[in-house]
Amino acid sequence: MALLITLAFILPGIAATVAAYAQRRNVPRATVTCPVDGCGARIDMTGAAPTERSRLTALATDHSRHGGAL
Ligand SMILES: [Zn+2]
Repeated sequence: MALLITLAFILPGIAATVAAYAQRRNVPRATVTCPVDGCGARIDMTGAAPTERSRLTALATDHSRHGGAL
């Protein structure tokens, strides 16, 4: 009986953990790096809205915006 009561408390906790993990996996994330060799500029995006994602992608791939005089 004690085991059943323990399971009744533990199982919802496990279900909530699994649900939270699945939700985290659905968060859109992407890494965009500069195409210029040796630049190393990169932007990691997590949960960015589509408009923000395209803005950051344009920023990361446009070397003139972070390459300085090089
Ligand atoms: Zn660059």
